[in-house]
Amino acid sequence: MPKLITQVGCPYCGSSCDDIEVLVSDDNKKILEVHNACIIGTNLFHHANDPTRPKLPRMRQPDGSIKEISYDEAIDFTAKTLLAAKKPLIYGFGSTNCEGMSAVARIAEKSGAVLDNCASICHGPSFLAMFDNGYPSCTLGEAKNRADVVVFWGCNPMHAHPRHTSRYSIFPRGYFTQKGQMQRTIISVDPRQTDTAKLADIHLMLNQGHDYELFDAFRTVLKGYDIPDEVAGIKKEVIVKSVEVMKKARFVMIFFGMGCTHTDGRNHNIDAAISLTRDLNLHTKASIMAMRGHYNIAGPGQVWAWLFGFPYCVDLSKGTAAHMNPGETSSIDLAMRDEVDCFVNVGTDAGAHWPIDAIKHIKKHPFITVDPNFCMASEISDLHIPVRIAGVDEPGVVYRMDNVPIQFKSVIDGLPGVPSDEELFDKIYERMCELTKTQPVWLTSKEDRKHPTNISAVNEA
Ligand code: SF4
Repeated sequence: MPKLITQVGCPYCGSSCDDIEVLVSDDNKKILEVHNACIIGTNLFHHANDPTRPKLPRMRQPDGSIKEISYDEAIDFTAKTLLAAKKPLIYGFGSTNCEGMSAVARIAEKSGAVLDNCASICHGPSFLAMFDNGYPSCTLGEAKNRADVVVFWGCNPMHAHPRHTSRYSIFPRGYFTQKGQMQRTIISVDPRQTDTAKLADIHLMLNQGHDYELFDAFRTVLKGYDIPDEVAGIKKEVIVKSVEVMKKARFVMIFFGMGCTHTDGRNHNIDAAISLTRDLNLHTKASIMAMRGHYNIAGPGQVWAWLFGFPYCVDLSKGTAAHMNPGETSSIDLAMRDEVDCFVNVGTDAGAHWPIDAIKHIKKHPFITVDPNFCMASEISDLHIPVRIAGVDEPGVVYRMDNVPIQFKSVIDGLPGVPSDEELFDKIYERMCELTKTQPVWLTSKEDRKHPTNISAVNEA
């Protein structure tokens, strides 16, 4: 009999929906149906059935061809390559669980690597602003239950986080928002007429790259001062009206995306957004949240801040304390200056997302990809090591975009012989210890680190 597994987490976008239901075959090997997920999440689960998923590591040969090798050979190659490198870079972690993020830290310390995650090229500027100005945030459950004015600034959840609007921000009925969308005023700030902007009650189509000025104009009006007739391409009366809507709200929720962090102003835009949130709290209640892209990209920020004191760009190459200085220790900058001599791409696709010049430098040195699937990075790597898919055939903890931890389940059995990220990194670490004749250091026993598989998913409230 097929089994219906409920309260499953979706390992795709930062909404990290934990209400998915998956019907699996009685032998636990095939996903038959996926309920509640959006089209992206549904396809992700069905993709796990793909018979062409890689089952063995693949090593590039001297003649350029690719040959399958054993996991032992791949582990040995990775351990030796990392130990031989002067400054390896281990990057990615958009799509794996916190257990893998923790296990890789031992390898990074042992090899004196720079450990970085995708925040380096997405919400890194948000972190810089939070360090400077704090982060008056809340959970998505609070946003759903309380927010009657929702601002989407430089983000388009209708495409990037498809169920965000139905689970948390526009449509759902919450405890204090019983009428759902009817009770919410939606403001979109975006230079384009996105599908989210089309849903908004007020769309401020600002001139691209002028976010900082507009944040400043909002704050100026909020403080009772006059502004010019037009700021950032938006008429004064529209800005004044938007500020009035916010002031009269019972709870304002500001969601911001990479339209803010990767345009002129970058971290200063987020600084201004945080200050606007603080100013609004003199009139009503207001909160702010980064629209994190991947389902567990908040995870490395949590795990590495706990382990090293820094959420990203963690430089362990000095062999003493960890050091973080974006611009100096950030992945793209290191690659562009050709400062790293080994690259390990984990659970992301640097081949698709990085500037071509950075990839050209990285390609001069050993390039290893750890990923369940074929991707552009795996195809230009010297070694591709497949792993299980966290949230599909491997359980684990993930941090949703609001930094709420959720226990994700596995719904089908993993491919025989294919390890999880955590198991792979533990084996690489053990091999590095063997090669250097040192004792491995485990904070907790392997027995204690066994995953619970039947914990109910945490609700968003
Ligand atoms: Fe998965 Fe995101 Fe779709 Fe939710 S909104 S089902 S987390 S892809």
